[in-house]
Amino acid sequence: MAIFITNTATGKKEELKTLEPGVVKMYVCGPTVYNYIHVGNARPAVVFDAFRRFLEYRGYKVIMVQNFTDIDDKIINEANEWGVDFKDVADTFIVEYWKDAQSLGLRAANFHPRTTDYVKEIVDAVGKLISKGYAYVAENGDVYFSVRKFEKYGELSGKKIEDLISGARVEVNTLKKDPLDFALWKAVKPGEPNWESPWSCGRPGWHIECSVMSQKLLGDTFDIHAGGEDLIFPHHEDEKAQSEALTGKPFAKYWMHNGMIITRGDKMSKSIGNVFLVREAVKRYGKDAVKLFLLSKHYRTPIEFSDEILLENKKAAMKVINTLNRFEEKYPYSLVPKRDQFMNDMESRFIEALEDDFNTPKAIALIFDLSRDLNKAMDEGNDEKSLKIYHLITRVFGNVLGIFEGGVKIGEASDSEKIIEEILKVRQYFRKEKNYLAADQIRDALKNAGISIKDTPEGTKWERNMEVDQ
Ligand SMILES: [Zn+2]
Repeated sequence: MAIFITNTATGKKEELKTLEPGVVKMYVCGPTVYNYIHVGNARPAVVFDAFRRFLEYRGYKVIMVQNFTDIDDKIINEANEWGVDFKDVADTFIVEYWKDAQSLGLRAANFHPRTTDYVKEIVDAVGKLISKGYAYVAENGDVYFSVRKFEKYGELSGKKIEDLISGARVEVNTLKKDPLDFALWKAVKPGEPNWESPWSCGRPGWHIECSVMSQKLLGDTFDIHAGGEDLIFPHHEDEKAQSEALTGKPFAKYWMHNGMIITRGDKMSKSIGNVFLVREAVKRYGKDAVKLFLLSKHYRTPIEFSDEILLENKKAAMKVINTLNRFEEKYPYSLVPKRDQFMNDMESRFIEALEDDFNTPKAIALIFDLSRDLNKAMDEGNDEKSLKIYHLITRVFGNVLGIFEGGVKIGEASDSEKIIEEILKVRQYFRKEKNYLAADQIRDALKNAGISIKDTPEGTKWERNMEVDQ
C-alpha cells in the first residue's frame, strides 16, 4: 500500500511520491544549542526518527539532515554570562544533545550541519537574493528580504499579506522598508561574534541558515521538510520564500509538522520557564515511558505534559516491559521464529496503521494487545506463539518505532549490585559442587567488604552491613 502523510502546505493527506524513486530526502529543523533539550524539543526528534525508521523499513533509502543552530542571540547571551566564547557554549550543548539523543535511542541523521560552517554559502545566497531584487541592504549593513516581492508568501501557513500587515506590530526598526520584511543578515553589534560580508561584518539571520543548509545537502527541491508546528510561521514560511526566490523552483514537496507539548496551559518553552528536561524525564520515568508518551498520540495533535500523565505512561510501559522480561527470563536464548500467517497478519496491521499518516497510536495499541497475548501464551505454555509475539514486539515493531526493544531490566541495578550478583552466582556454583571451603571463603570476603549474605530456600539473599560501610 501507499504511504499517506498530511502535507501542511495543502492541509490534506497526500500520497508520498518521492522525487527520486525509492529515495526520501528529508530536512528536520534541529535545536538551538544554548541549553539542555527539554521534552518539547524531543518531540520532533523522536517522531521524525521513528518516521525515518519506518520509511527505511518500507524499503526507502532516507537521506536525513538535522541542523544545529550554533549562532543566535541566546547562545551569545549565555556565552557572555559564562565569560566564554559563543563556540564553547554551542560545543558544550551539542555534546549534551548527543547524550540525550542516545538515552532516547535516537539514531544520528546522515548530516548534522552547523550554521557557522555555512557562513560563506549563506553570504553567497544573500548576495544572489539582492541581485535578483528580492532583498536590500539597510543603512547599517543589515540585509532584509522584501516579503511583498515574493508573490506566494503566505502559501504555506495560509496567511494573507493584508492580515499580516494589520496584525504587524508597530516596529521601532526604521531600517526596514516594510514591517513585514525579515533579516537575512544582521550587522554586528559591539562585542558580538561576526563574519565578513560585502555589506557589513555580521551574522546570518535564523531562517536563511535552514534554506542554505537544506539546499546544499539535499538539492534545490527535496521531499520532506519537517519540524514543530510553532515553526510554520514565520520560520518555514520565510525559508520557503527565500529558497524559491533564490532558485525559482519549488522548495520542499511535503511539509510535516508535529504538535506542541503543553504544560500548565502553555507551550513547553524555555522562555516561559515550564520546561522538563529530557534527562530528568528519562531518569524519572525511563526511556520507553518517555517515548510512549511522545508516540502514543498522533504526531500532529498537541499533548499535555504533567507528572501524572508521565506516571500513567510509565505504568503502561511497565506492563509491556514486565511481559518482555518474563519472556527473556523464561527463554534466555530465543531463536528467530519461522514466519507464518499470524506474524504476517500482525505485521500488516502494524504497517497499515503507519502508512495512514503515521498513525502511531494505532500501531502502539496493537503492541499492547500483543503484549497481553504474550502473557496468555506464556501462561498456557505455548512456546512457539510466545516466541512469535516476542519477536514481533521487540525485533519488528520495536525496531521501527524505537520503543520496547526488550532487554530492559527493571530497577536498573548499580554496577556494584551487578558485581555482587555475579559473585553470588560463582559461590552458588561451588556450593553445588559441594566445595564448601571455596563457598565460605567467598562469604567471608564479601563480609569483609561489608556485604552479609544469607542462604534461604528461595536462594541467597544479601544486604549491605551498614556498620562496616561507614
Ligand atoms: Zn529551520
